[in-house]
Amino acid sequence: MAATLGLMLGAVLLVVLAASSFWTLYTASSSITAARRDHITSTSVLLTQAVESQLAAGELTALRRLITETARTNGLDECRVVLPGGGILADADPSRVTVMRLAAQWPEGQLDELETTINEHGARLVSELSIPGRGTARLIIGDGRRHAPWGTWQVRAGLGGIAVIGLSGLLITYRWMRTRLRALTAVGEALTAASTGERCVDVLRVDDSFGAAATAWNAMLDECHDLRRQADLVTAPGNSGGAGSGIDREIRNACDALWMGVVMIDSSMHVTYVNGAAAVLLSKSREELEGTSLSLAVQLGDGAEVIKGVAAGTLRRRESFEVRLGDGAVLRFACRAVRSNGSSAAIIIVTDVTQQKAADEARNSLVSQATHELRTPLTNIRLYIDALIDQQDDDPAARLKCINVISEESRRLERIVGDMLSVAEIEAGTMSVNRGDVRLEPLFQELRADYEAQAQDKEISLTFDLPPKWPTLFADRDKLTLALHNLLGNALKYTPVGGRVGVMVETQADPAKGDVLLVHVSDNGIGIRPEEHELIFEQFYRAKDNRISSITGSGLGLALARQIARQHGGDITVSSELDKGSTFTLVLPLSAAPSAAGTTLSRAA
Ligand code: ATP
Ligand code: MG
Repeated sequence: MAATLGLMLGAVLLVVLAASSFWTLYTASSSITAARRDHITSTSVLLTQAVESQLAAGELTALRRLITETARTNGLDECRVVLPGGGILADADPSRVTVMRLAAQWPEGQLDELETTINEHGARLVSELSIPGRGTARLIIGDGRRHAPWGTWQVRAGLGGIAVIGLSGLLITYRWMRTRLRALTAVGEALTAASTGERCVDVLRVDDSFGAAATAWNAMLDECHDLRRQADLVTAPGNSGGAGSGIDREIRNACDALWMGVVMIDSSMHVTYVNGAAAVLLSKSREELEGTSLSLAVQLGDGAEVIKGVAAGTLRRRESFEVRLGDGAVLRFACRAVRSNGSSAAIIIVTDVTQQKAADEARNSLVSQATHELRTPLTNIRLYIDALIDQQDDDPAARLKCINVISEESRRLERIVGDMLSVAEIEAGTMSVNRGDVRLEPLFQELRADYEAQAQDKEISLTFDLPPKWPTLFADRDKLTLALHNLLGNALKYTPVGGRVGVMVETQADPAKGDVLLVHVSDNGIGIRPEEHELIFEQFYRAKDNRISSITGSGLGLALARQIARQHGGDITVSSELDKGSTFTLVLPLSAAPSAAGTTLSRAA
């Protein structure tokens, strides 16, 4: 910038100088030309009179002397007396005289060369002489020399040369200045950045191609960086010499053993220490982190400003913020200002709160889903109680309808609360499993009895395909009944009027689990989309099917049933096709060994 301005200033000065020189030369030249012209004109007038009188007196010799003298003293190129017809009577150059004698009279002839020309290149004056008794003649005087200094080629070439040399000099100076000033400007900018707290060598470095100044600056930066690193190493825990080094090493080892990340930064946010856990959590090696700016090494978002304030000592209280990383992990940064070697610094504790966050989100979602599920029966109960209170005419049928709805909704409420409690128990690992020998035949007879009426109401054909010989199962009878009720209840619920529901029980030898009991509950109902086959086992999940919305349910049944199966070392699987029907299969090992697997429930998002 400065170099460009310098070049422009120089060019302007050069142009002004050239213009003023030209103008001076031009005006001087003009005035010299004018003076010369005046001089020649007056000489011509005087000479004309003198020549006429000399010729009239017949003084040819005196005339010729007069011509020669006048030409010499006035520096004339040309000075002659010419007779009509071209004869030269007298001339500044005597060798050019052609008429040797002065005749008494001469004839009049053609008057050529009568043109008087006066211009910047010189003057040529032609005066007519009239000599009484003899005739007419011409006096020609001329001054062909250039008198304008500007008019000479030497002057022009000289001025042009000076201008070219001046411009070339300016260009060379400009290029040299530009290279030098570029380095100085870049170093100046780096110094300004350093004064505002920037310590990163890569940021402060300037391009080596800027010249020697840039190279020297970079070398100095590297030196400073090395010195700072050495100083950091000396002051870092475990590296200081003397009596305290053992303690420092122990502190360093203790920090490394911590499960939470510890990061120390100086006032300009450069990492001075980082423990192993922090390096793992931030997915960077210690070498990558130490000595670099924390905000450059880790994406801190808005937290960068918080840490900057704490490190600079402007924020005195403990500050914390959370950062969600690209892989979904959530890190919590808690930082506090500390004093280190008399200047401000900060310690940052980094913890992985991904699990905690997920648990919080799941709990919030469960509370909102549970609230939503409980609200419907509660609202219904309140509405029908209000209707009962407001009933003026004592219509027993209407009263009975209200009471039935209230009773039904209360049972629904009770079931939801019961299911939720069971879910909570399974999650907490406190659900007790009271195992005993379960006789399966009466259990399935009861199941048939419980659902036959419901099947008849919906005109559904309910069939049971039971084995002739029943094995004995070592299980919790109540829980098993709950699971079977859920499966059969669903089959009847999600099968339209006139459909078919079948229960089939068999035993099978399983290579992994030994002998297993298989209970297949099939229907030709609405079916389930393949992408929802696993989702329906999550808490509160109900299929995204318009036909489901008109059927009451809270989405807890299958989640509970599967957990019960898993508590018994078994599982529930489904195969289903939309609009064709579904088959749920409950697998239970017949060996007594209980399993701890599957005590964690997942929730529908
Ligand atoms: P509840 O908690 O009262 O049992 P629910 O029946 O809706 O409510 P689940 O038994 O857990 O809940 O079933 C979850 C979802 O799976 C149901 O909402 C339904 O969409 C689907 N589903 C379960 N069984 C069947 C079936 N036999 N046919 C079609 N869809 C079914
Ligand atoms: Mg159900």
